[in-house]
Amino acid sequence: MNAFAETMLDVARVRSDFPILEREVHGKPLIYLDNAATSQTPSAVIDTLDDYYRRYNANIHRGLHTLADEATAAYEGTREKVRAWLGAASHREIVFTRGTTEAINLVANSWGRANLRPGDEIIVSLMEHHSNIVPWQMLAEALDVTLKVIPVDERGVLDQAAYRDMLGERTRLVCVNHVSNALGTVNPVAEMARAAHEHGALILVDGAQAVPHQRVDVQALDVDFYAFSGHKAYGPTGVGVLYGREALLEAMPPWQGGGEMISRVSFEKGTVYSEIPHKFEAGTPAIAEVIALGAALDWIADTGIDLMAAWEHHLLERATDKLKAVDGLRMIGTAPDKVSVLSFVVDGAHSQDIGLLIDQLGVAIRTGHHCAQPMLASMGLDATCRASLAAYNTPEEVDAFVEALQKVIAMVR
Ligand code: PLP
Repeated sequence: MNAFAETMLDVARVRSDFPILEREVHGKPLIYLDNAATSQTPSAVIDTLDDYYRRYNANIHRGLHTLADEATAAYEGTREKVRAWLGAASHREIVFTRGTTEAINLVANSWGRANLRPGDEIIVSLMEHHSNIVPWQMLAEALDVTLKVIPVDERGVLDQAAYRDMLGERTRLVCVNHVSNALGTVNPVAEMARAAHEHGALILVDGAQAVPHQRVDVQALDVDFYAFSGHKAYGPTGVGVLYGREALLEAMPPWQGGGEMISRVSFEKGTVYSEIPHKFEAGTPAIAEVIALGAALDWIADTGIDLMAAWEHHLLERATDKLKAVDGLRMIGTAPDKVSVLSFVVDGAHSQDIGLLIDQLGVAIRTGHHCAQPMLASMGLDATCRASLAAYNTPEEVDAFVEALQKVIAMVR
């Protein structure tokens, strides 16, 4: 499979789509391994942004002129692309947000405030990004709701038995990531959704780290809410998506008021909200970015998500083997089902020093808590180094990264 993938993904062609990969950092060729934070954007996405501002920049939905029509068609065209990409039943189930964080806050503030009562329970996992923890903590405090936390074992695998034990008649919502940004663990969300539904609870899945790396089908997974961000999936910053089942979105109140989300406003007769999904898109959205997100999904589709996934898997295995051989290095996150992420600590070397020094050699990795402080703390850590892969990375880059790491470790020890 790996040899097959290596021959099938034309990585040189993939790389030629990303102008930024030609740049140097501190006089060295850039090796970009911070893709879990933000992936790079192909020319097709950059050109789409440029084309919008050069040719048809206009506000959407209410205009009667040609530019407004064109912008509206392109914006709504992306909604249809996202629907198809996620396998959603209807474009009405796709809400544009600023990112995963805003999508989760939307559910917390709209669905949460309308449906939760004191004593209700929300289950989150220990390996969540802060954006899938803090909105629920805020809600729990405001509504006197209890948060329960699914533990993680030493490999970075969720304890499914503990999860099933936690589910009960007070459980209203389960919040879990599809892929952990700090560990790369792929969680069995379809199985977790089934268990949640058996107890009458809903499930919200944070797909920020899954959408760029694997096929996602919200109907096959049978999840109720699914969120992701454009900038981690070869798209622009400032745009993300909330998928929500149609019946749920229909019943949820809007969470922000303003233009775009109403069909009529009157002081005498009250305000009538728009249909979904517009009810949840108050104000002028990130029009150019939404349209460019469509270009990013087209780029992934043209490149081939399965091919990209196989290629990244091959790189992950190569990098894992090489890192394991580094003296004093400990991998953090060794789940059997993993994508893209290599988190590690090194005896006698502070993660931040490694991050700073390896940058001098042209290698971009991330160091710190990766917005997953509770999980790192449970492992007795406050920081790791994290290298994260994308489809444009190469085996040569993996080798050069590990070589650079060894040089840096020799310097700091
Ligand atoms: N969830 C996960 C798993 C993430 O990795 C991130 C970002 O790192 C987020 C949520 C937050 O995404 P955003 O900052 O785009 O809203």
